[in-house]
Amino acid sequence: MRRLSAPYIFTGTSVLKNGIIEIDSKGEILNVINTNGKLKETESLEYFSGVIVPGFVNAHCHLELSHMKGLIKQDTSRGLPGFIDEIISKRNFPDNLQEKIINADSEMKRNGIVAVGDISNTDDSFKIKKESALFYHTFIEVLTINNQTAQSTYEKAVQNLNLLKNFSLNGTIVPHAAYSVPDALYQTIIHNRPESKQIISVHNQETESEDTFIRSKKGALAEVLRRKNFEFADFNFYEKSAIEHTLNKQRPKDNILLIHNTFTGNENISFAENFSNNVYWVFCPLSNLYIENTLPDIKLFFDMGVKTCIGTDSYASNTELSILSELKIIVKHFPDIPFSKLIESACLNGAKALNINRKFGSIEVGKSPGINLIKSFDFTNMNLQESSKVQPLA
Ligand SMILES: [Zn+2]
Repeated sequence: MRRLSAPYIFTGTSVLKNGIIEIDSKGEILNVINTNGKLKETESLEYFSGVIVPGFVNAHCHLELSHMKGLIKQDTSRGLPGFIDEIISKRNFPDNLQEKIINADSEMKRNGIVAVGDISNTDDSFKIKKESALFYHTFIEVLTINNQTAQSTYEKAVQNLNLLKNFSLNGTIVPHAAYSVPDALYQTIIHNRPESKQIISVHNQETESEDTFIRSKKGALAEVLRRKNFEFADFNFYEKSAIEHTLNKQRPKDNILLIHNTFTGNENISFAENFSNNVYWVFCPLSNLYIENTLPDIKLFFDMGVKTCIGTDSYASNTELSILSELKIIVKHFPDIPFSKLIESACLNGAKALNINRKFGSIEVGKSPGINLIKSFDFTNMNLQESSKVQPLA
């Protein structure tokens, strides 16, 4: 048994001053002791300077794009439409993709990430996920350009889901975004949806022209999609925004992870929250800065008390896969969000979204959530600072 302590432990649900965590050799929490700030016993105690938090849950990644580091140059003038243009032409896979995926998986582990919601369009990452120390929920993502290709697109996804199940990995078939799923494909998804509660992930309102496309099939995004031979007659929208279109095709009982939300406003948030209690708002701020040089109004979401999560997105639009780095950029732009709330987002909310909160997300007896030490913490403001670093302890 190990006994860990630090000036502050953020368990994910509470904050303990000089608390003690007792864990077994497999990382299972045996005991969480509130010393009320007074640490008398120091026997067999590992005392760390910094704060202790649970293992991070990365709610949005694309492991299979791990070879794309630096391939798409940061040019925020083109925004998402330009990014889509480039990613389609540059994502053809190199020989050393498996090695790059292994490196990305190890990097996440070093950065204190214990579980990942990962998007797959192919089966390239499955074997590595099977062998990984991290937990993966795989979102098998579908998109296509017209109704004619809907059936074959869906069948390929079912094949991949079966492959995933052969590896005993968790996964669900999910739509990519409001603008990339033609009517027939959405009908097929809905028709074949299992009756049981599902975990769904959809890219949402990542660029301003997404809602423009939904309303008028015009704008910068429409231009790129037209060049990529999207057949607009097969995409029919009856709503004013991408988020309404997406949610009207979902079931309130499913966990719905909405990714990015860069151009999601007050009314959109209320619409979604009225639709379901199971909406999780996932932010990937470094990717948003990389692609659009814009951040969602993250503070607004925290002020409204909705369930927020953190993701790294992929190497196509990020230079690292680190939840801590995502949190640091949030602190830089929104210093008023309390650190305890950031940790709740980065750990427990992600675990709830992926339905793994019995094991992950908070430091509680019986869980094996992973334990991270945050070094170089700013104790004056009780928050992260530029120099903060993460070191997994268990
Ligand atoms: Zn993504």
